[in-house]
Amino acid sequence: LNKTKFMHAPEAIPLIQQALKPESKVMVTTHLSPDGDAIGSSLGLLHGLQDKVQSMQCVIPNEAPDFLKWMDGFNSMLVADEAPEKVAALFQDADIWVVLDYNAEHRAGKIIEELAPRFKGTKIVIDHHLDPSIPCDILLSDDGICSTAQLVYEVVSAINPAQLQGATLECLYTGLITDTGSFRFSSVDTRTHGIVSEMIEKGLKHWEVHQKIYDQNTLSRLQIIGYCLSEKMQVFKDGKVALIAISQEEVKRFGASKGDTEGLVNWALSIQGVEVAAFVREAEDMVKISFRSKKYYPVNEFSNAHFNGGGHKHAAGGRSNIGLQETVDRIKELFEPIEFQ
Ligand code: 5GP
Ligand code: MN
Repeated sequence: LNKTKFMHAPEAIPLIQQALKPESKVMVTTHLSPDGDAIGSSLGLLHGLQDKVQSMQCVIPNEAPDFLKWMDGFNSMLVADEAPEKVAALFQDADIWVVLDYNAEHRAGKIIEELAPRFKGTKIVIDHHLDPSIPCDILLSDDGICSTAQLVYEVVSAINPAQLQGATLECLYTGLITDTGSFRFSSVDTRTHGIVSEMIEKGLKHWEVHQKIYDQNTLSRLQIIGYCLSEKMQVFKDGKVALIAISQEEVKRFGASKGDTEGLVNWALSIQGVEVAAFVREAEDMVKISFRSKKYYPVNEFSNAHFNGGGHKHAAGGRSNIGLQETVDRIKELFEPIEFQ
């Protein structure tokens, strides 16, 4: 487990193919607060490769947001928070562990992080975040690729192309659109659109996936978005930084869940002239922060340096253990001397 080698798809895929045997018992994990790429790439891998192995079980660390629950296979996923003993048993039984869409062991949450040393089989990491630090046997890691779903598509396309159909396509397409802002981020490349072209040829009804993902607002979600935009947004640094901060009490007042505030940071970023946006949310035991930037500013470095976090240049997250207001003050203080161009 210490011969980790950093690989892109052409080198890694043949090794993944060799590792997966008809008798393999495969376990798949993804990151905390799983998003569309985490769930989409997990279930895409499940539908794409489960007939090549004896068994495949996907695990998520905690509950997924409602707008992802329509996906085929969703109910077969184990939730580590809710069934820790089942997940522990899986770590004993599985002989292949596929880590999807995260680059550091702690991103899968305490339960999975603490079980990791018990696993004795072959560990495969497929991810697109910078600086992977998870010990493994096969590391398919490329931070130039827009989504883990794109990498999983390449894997299934090479190993089991017949399964690029129906649910496999819907799940992987979900990962593609949710991690690329529906194909608008700079991480989208010609291959991303090539894959979509192949998917549509193979029968994907792309508009149905968009409806299932994006036309799912609840009244409470729209109301808390409205409240945040009209009452909670602050713009500073000559209009270059926008910040929204919200307390647990406010989230509760709207009868909203934490998923309801997802994407708010992008509204803040969409203001003309804003280069960096932050969304600060009080959670049970910490304050969770999302950062986004438009052109120049590497929010992952900022989040890593000051808020125990990381991510991508233009989309990062972190957390703090001081209070909500203190966190907001700290962000403002840290941004004060920075030139956002
Ligand atoms: P979000 O703002 O949507 O929660 O996160 C945006 C991106 O930042 C994620 O895709 C993930 O890569 C990264 N990220 C979010 N929270 C954390 C964190 O606590 N630690 C690290 N290392 N990365 C994070
Ligand atoms: Mn991703």
